[in-house]
Amino acid sequence: MSLKEASYYTKSENNKVKCNLCPHNCLISDGKAGICKVRTNIGGTLYADVYNKLSAVHFDPVEKKPLYHFYPGKEILSIGGLGCNFKCGCCQNYEISQSGVNEFPRLLSITVNDIIKMVHKSPINIGLAFTYNEPVVWFEYMKDVAIETKKHGLKNVMVSNGYINKKPLEDLLEWIDAFNIDLKVFNEEQHKRFTGGGLQEVFNTLETIVKGKKHLEVTTLVVPGLNDDIQQFEQMIDWIYNHLGSNVPLHISRYFPKYRMNKDATSGKLLTEMADCASEKLSFVYMGNYPENNYQNTICPVCGNIAILRHGYHINTTGIKSDGKCSNCGFKLAIT
Ligand code: SF4
Ligand code: SF4
Repeated sequence: MSLKEASYYTKSENNKVKCNLCPHNCLISDGKAGICKVRTNIGGTLYADVYNKLSAVHFDPVEKKPLYHFYPGKEILSIGGLGCNFKCGCCQNYEISQSGVNEFPRLLSITVNDIIKMVHKSPINIGLAFTYNEPVVWFEYMKDVAIETKKHGLKNVMVSNGYINKKPLEDLLEWIDAFNIDLKVFNEEQHKRFTGGGLQEVFNTLETIVKGKKHLEVTTLVVPGLNDDIQQFEQMIDWIYNHLGSNVPLHISRYFPKYRMNKDATSGKLLTEMADCASEKLSFVYMGNYPENNYQNTICPVCGNIAILRHGYHINTTGIKSDGKCSNCGFKLAIT
């Protein structure tokens, strides 16, 4: 185990500690870990179990995060750790998200300095993405790496469920340039049942990121029987429109059976119906995990010019100018 004393916790009676990193605010007895499985109380001190340890390291297209409006066509070094503060039944990465260090023997030892050496290996790498499992639960490593990345003039991206308390989030806002946050189910009760965590806290995160003027894209995985009610979906689109603005890119993503869920994959018809509904209010709507659909390209909402043409991860950006404006009419397309 590679330990570092945790940030954001308070000591309590009988050697217990209270973790203040995410809204679960776990009260953890000596010798036990929190809900995320990777923050352990040893003798009245809380430790981040996974520090200098990673489960995955890859150069990925930035579009794969997914981020479609942040340095399109570039690569980003993407790293994952262990653990998650949610328990989604269809988690595609459950082997790492639902494991503590003793349940995942293949962890790689990678220090902050090792990562910084790796970021320079691709000439089109823009920086680092904290992704694959939930990066909130390995906050300390993410923050230390992100601080170093910035010193090298590179960008940091966080792909997250958004379940984090306000103080640590505000701390991260200083170092993270772009976020993709999941908005899973637009109903408090269903959200709790599906993930184990509340929806209001995710709303708070989304609004804090927008107020902090950081790049934000939102992903909704459409799971049949969970969040496929079109009226509830319309309410979610209204919320995004009113609280985050019409220019926030929304990725409507296809569910595939995995982990504890074996329902059939989401149909293209349903995804298209939802994308059509979303695009009545939002300017940039995309369909993910579904090949050859009508929602892959970035279209200028003013003149209809194809600003960015996508075939899978082949990206043609000739429709945008270097300042991110439409090459035809000059409209600012919310592209960084
Ligand atoms: S980060 Fe982990 S230990 Fe801390 S409150 Fe959240 S689930 Fe509990
Ligand atoms: S929040 Fe993401 S990583 Fe965590 S369980 Fe859900 S899908 Fe998996």
